[in-house]
Amino acid sequence: MLNSDFKKILQRPESSARFPSFGWIDTHCHLSDERISKNLETEINEANQSGITGFISLALCREEFECIKHTKFQKFNKFIRWCAGIHPNYEKSSETDFDLIENLCIEKKLIGIGEIGLDGRVTNSEWQQKILLKQLELATNYDLPVIFHTVKKYYDLYKILKNNFPKIRGILHGFNSSLEISEIFSRFDLGFSFKASIPKTEVLQYILKRGYYFFETDAPYAIPPDSPDEFNHLKNLMWVINSIAEKANTDVSILKERQYGNIRNLFG
Ligand SMILES: [Zn+2]
Repeated sequence: MLNSDFKKILQRPESSARFPSFGWIDTHCHLSDERISKNLETEINEANQSGITGFISLALCREEFECIKHTKFQKFNKFIRWCAGIHPNYEKSSETDFDLIENLCIEKKLIGIGEIGLDGRVTNSEWQQKILLKQLELATNYDLPVIFHTVKKYYDLYKILKNNFPKIRGILHGFNSSLEISEIFSRFDLGFSFKASIPKTEVLQYILKRGYYFFETDAPYAIPPDSPDEFNHLKNLMWVINSIAEKANTDVSILKERQYGNIRNLFG
């Protein structure tokens, strides 16, 4: 059994989590999803052409974890970083994958644990809480940030974090909730990540003023409204960023500098 300090030393990523160039970074996408992976090169090239130079990809089950070491993805090592987790509401996620995630931590393949959390659309809340706590413990042991997926359960998540993991650091992914929820979660060391469903102006203004924010596609999910496509593409990160700049009446260069600094702050 490793003690937690030794685990922390072991965890230091083999290559730095740092992205090589000062570009836009998609903090949440699913590159191992077949819809993206079958055209990986085109997806990445098109995004690169729009100035997107980093992708944090979330792997959520055994077959997706295998992509992390696959040559097809390794070829794009410069651009891709990985998180892995047992999702509360994804049919392919399984509790039996826990040891595989811990192995990836030991092998220093991950920059975060996720997406994990609570999802009120399904009724297995006891299991969700149990697996969430186990993974928060894992993230703490390996000194890794957490990517949270939360649907209709923000207050439950708040209680769990306040009582058990008040020092947790990470991201609330795809955030689009109320001002009150933004305020209470701002008590933690957590950033807010925006996707195509952009929050109300007052919420957006509050989060931009606080300064700890990120941008994501969640591709192939979360298609921008009015898009004729059947699934979301990596290049659509620019749609999210431009829409936010317009809604908040701010300059994209300010958003770019902030998101890059925030990535460095969280992932090193
Ligand atoms: Zn996702």
